Amino acid sequence: MMRLPVLSHFTPKTLDEAIALASELPSARFVAGGTDLLPKLKRRQLGASALISLTRCEELQTIKRLDDGGWRIGAGVKLVELVRLPELRSSHPAIWQAASQVASPPIRSSGTVGGNLCVDPRCFWFDQTAPWREAAGQCMKIDPAVVCRVAPNSPRCWAVSSTDLAPAMGAARAKVRIVGPAGERTVPLPELYRDDGIDYMTLSHGEVIVDVEIPGSVGWRSAFWKIRRRQSIDFALLSASVEVFMLTDEVLEARVGLGAVGSCPLFPPEVAAVLVGTKLEDDVIEAAAAAAKKLARPMETSDMPSSWRRRVLPVAVKWALREVRGDDVTDARRRYGPQVLLP
Ligand SMILES: Cc1cc2nc3c(=O)[nH]c(=O)nc-3n(C[C@H](O)[C@H](O)[C@H](O)COP(=O)(O)OP(=O)(O)OC[C@H]3O[C@@H](n4cnc5c(N)ncnc54)[C@H](O)[C@@H]3O)c2cc1C
Repeated sequence: MMRLPVLSHFTPKTLDEAIALASELPSARFVAGGTDLLPKLKRRQLGASALISLTRCEELQTIKRLDDGGWRIGAGVKLVELVRLPELRSSHPAIWQAASQVASPPIRSSGTVGGNLCVDPRCFWFDQTAPWREAAGQCMKIDPAVVCRVAPNSPRCWAVSSTDLAPAMGAARAKVRIVGPAGERTVPLPELYRDDGIDYMTLSHGEVIVDVEIPGSVGWRSAFWKIRRRQSIDFALLSASVEVFMLTDEVLEARVGLGAVGSCPLFPPEVAAVLVGTKLEDDVIEAAAAAAKKLARPMETSDMPSSWRRRVLPVAVKWALREVRGDDVTDARRRYGPQVLLP
């Protein structure tokens, strides 16, 4: 059985208290549902002297519908709460679809929105037990002196961003409110991330994600497609989230989010630009999917070859676009497990 290292545990009742504690404890980590952090501490992938639980900070626990039809969702809200919101499903289908495909029901009952946005980038060489890694000669994400096993000539780590909510929320123009020792700031969601498998977030020590604001979606249509090995539990091998603004049958604005194909979620304007001014005809969908394939550079970070992920990414983009066009994709959603998904 893998055990947690010995550490102190604090349960502050307010956000201010949590931030003050973090300032006093430089090697402490915040914990919310613990579904990502605790297994990593047990496998000695990460270290910490103390955990500061955010579960009692009320500031993080609320869900509010905004006047424009958007949402303010507290970082401490559990994923299962999002899945149980039929209004979110109809106003922002991609975000609802992303939340409902994270891991499995028990994990969604503990895992939170904030924790999901901060999920540690994954890699086949990193997400292993300590004896496995030691036998293999360690990995750069644990020990920067070791060459990256995925790209030995590369000076950087290529662990892959594995959050499902980030591509969907980023494409939906979400903004993230962060509070820390230096005060409060609000950033567009893509600015939360760095393209680096190790130093992957722009949060400083002691900064807490308080909530995510998602603007109203009148005129917007969206869809999120996730490809994974099994239809439950597994992280994405790749994901695609699309948002199109259509008042008639013409796309006036578009956003595309790609997950699990780089060390941060990608929001390529080149792919979105292909869609604007069109009626999402088949050739436009093909062109957007081809543009996504050209941009994404998945590495050998999972047990599926990167060539497979490059070939399948445009398929996911195409299905997401067909869904927002209004095609009936029920059968494809049911049928298309990754094993049978051939381009
Ligand atoms: C078997 C398994 C399958 C999984 N499958 C998926 C999947 O398919 N898709 C997916 O996206 N994830 C998956 N996960 C990862 C994880 O369970 C979820 O992403 C979950 O939402 C994480 O939330 P949490 O509250 O448990 O995070 P925690 O484990 O509590 O925290 C994760 C990180 O976020 C930081 N953090 C948490 N809240 C805040 C905050 N408010 N402000 C600043 N930092 C914060 C913590 O310090 C930590 O670094 C899986 C995990 C397991 C064990």
